[in-house]
Amino acid sequence: MLFCNSLRPKLTLSATRTFSCLVQSKAFINGNWINASTNETFEVINPANGRIVGSVPNMNVNDAVQAVQAAKNAFEQSEWSKFTAKERSSLLKKWFNLIEKNGNEISEIMSAESGKPINEARGEVAYGNAFIEWFAEEARRIYGDIIPSAAKDREIIVLKQPLGVAALITPWNFPLAMITRKAGAALAAGCTIVIKPAEDTPLTALALVKLAEEAGFPDGVINIVTTNNAAPIGDLFCKSPDVRGISFTGSTEVGKWLFRNSSDGIKRISLELGGNAPFIVFNTANLEKAVDAAIASKFRNCGQTCVSANRFFLQDEIHNKFIDLLKQKVEALKVGDGSKQDVQIGPLINSMQFNKVSSYVEDARSKGGKILFGGRPLEDLGKLFYSPTIISNVPSNAKLYSEEIFGPVVSIVKFKTEEEVIRAANNSRRGLAGYFFSENIQQVFRVARLLEVGMVGVNEGLISAAEAPFGGVKESGIGREGSHHGIDEYVEIKYICMGNLKY
Ligand code: NAP
Repeated sequence: MLFCNSLRPKLTLSATRTFSCLVQSKAFINGNWINASTNETFEVINPANGRIVGSVPNMNVNDAVQAVQAAKNAFEQSEWSKFTAKERSSLLKKWFNLIEKNGNEISEIMSAESGKPINEARGEVAYGNAFIEWFAEEARRIYGDIIPSAAKDREIIVLKQPLGVAALITPWNFPLAMITRKAGAALAAGCTIVIKPAEDTPLTALALVKLAEEAGFPDGVINIVTTNNAAPIGDLFCKSPDVRGISFTGSTEVGKWLFRNSSDGIKRISLELGGNAPFIVFNTANLEKAVDAAIASKFRNCGQTCVSANRFFLQDEIHNKFIDLLKQKVEALKVGDGSKQDVQIGPLINSMQFNKVSSYVEDARSKGGKILFGGRPLEDLGKLFYSPTIISNVPSNAKLYSEEIFGPVVSIVKFKTEEEVIRAANNSRRGLAGYFFSENIQQVFRVARLLEVGMVGVNEGLISAAEAPFGGVKESGIGREGSHHGIDEYVEIKYICMGNLKY
């Protein structure tokens, strides 16, 4: 069991309140830290070593009903609805400052429950917190319109108003950033929220909420329910008329279910789902840059990133050279327990992920894929470690090719022409991110427009930023997070017609 003192002894957050630790064992509803109504709990496990990191309430649908009710009351009746944009902005800034101040401790919690290397966890805190800062600024810029009317005695006024209660459902791979990207926008817009974090990583989420409490958000504005049985709570979010919007990041399968299941209530739904990103290297590319970008895009978070490069397409003339350079870098990657400073790749999150990665590699091998490096579990390190892997000659009927692997595996296909590779890259039901490397300016503009994805990295492997709109096309999702577009998911547009005016 990881105790607070092993993370950091007594932490003083402000002159007024002292928290001994950010590791919480209760959920937060209507301003109270509470157990599940059944008193059930579940354990959070460190995937690097199987040790228990903490335990949290195993809430059921009755608890979630309380959370939705609290958020509804806070939206309709409490002082929250009277907060000005400036007041909402300043609360978000306080939250941002507290997250920054406690960044080290949050990173340690995140690394322990997700297995993410500690330096990556620090990077996620900075990246995720940038959304709180960004939306603190955007809160003051949710402008409406005054549109010139065709009638002489009318004014057309357009307001943007908060949706109401928003349910935020988040995955384990970015336990902090997936929450801040949603919560920052929702709170800036004036919504109240109920967060349902992933079963594998609830402690980072609870630590964030602890700091939100410290920042001074009114009771009921931010609520969080923890559970290891998500479906009934998801069903409540879909069916309850009190929930006006659902924002979900996770698998395409669950996203589709939420979309279908919430159709009766015609509620706002924003979906950030899985990808199958092509990573194309043309003959004209700067190969050093392309290889560095490949390492960053593929191996961040052990490949468990929705925008990770999934299918590597290498043009014929650079195919062998790129593989040689890539292999040298992959061989040098340090795999191990994420709490160690020099580790670059941690374990996979759980046995389901581990089995998926192993079976996809076996499937590619059996269909003719050639393993150039790795392709095996690293049992000496622990049960969930898998070697960084490079496979070439991956056939198009291999699962690695058509599905998102979500693991540290580079799958390579050779191509001859631009036309051929665009067709292959777009031959997917997914369309989240895509990357390509070329020094030919004509090709750069052409290919950027032709790729059927929501985000394109040109000569760049890491593209996410608070200022940029994140999201996909096709079955990769609906809506955008981050940027000024992120607010749109949480506001309704209201048109007011002022008639019979005399000028
Ligand atoms: P997941 O199984 O869909 O889970 C995501 C979240 O949904 C978790 O909180 C999960 O709870 C919850 N959930 C599962 N079933 C639910 C239901 N019936 N109703 C309501 N909530 C439900 O996905 P995952 O395996 O954790 O995450 C990996 C996937 O997420 C990958 O496909 C990846 O590409 C995608 N992803 C996308 C983005 C993006 O921005 N596009 C970012 C990160 C990840 P439990 O944990 O309790 O099961």
